[in-house]
Amino acid sequence: MSIRKKSILFLSVGVINIFGLLVAALAIHEAFLFLALVALFVLGICQRSFLKCPSCRHPILKRTVVFFGEPFTYWGLPPQQCPHCGEDLRQDR
Ligand SMILES: [Zn+2]
Repeated sequence: MSIRKKSILFLSVGVINIFGLLVAALAIHEAFLFLALVALFVLGICQRSFLKCPSCRHPILKRTVVFFGEPFTYWGLPPQQCPHCGEDLRQDR
């Protein structure tokens, strides 16, 4: 499985979990809101740790844009190529 497919699968499972916990917070008990925040934190840590480019080890969801001369970092959707080195992330490894 390519790193791009892994990242799409990982983000899909994470978003579904957080959405389910938010629905549980509304329907069952407010304590599920805390679990949704914990799940969001764990999702951020895991995607930064495990979803890296196989050749340069740069987190593939981390992007940088220069706006008025200042670089800004944001976390985007899974790209087809590494935003750092240009490696094709659709290939199986
Ligand atoms: Zn790379």
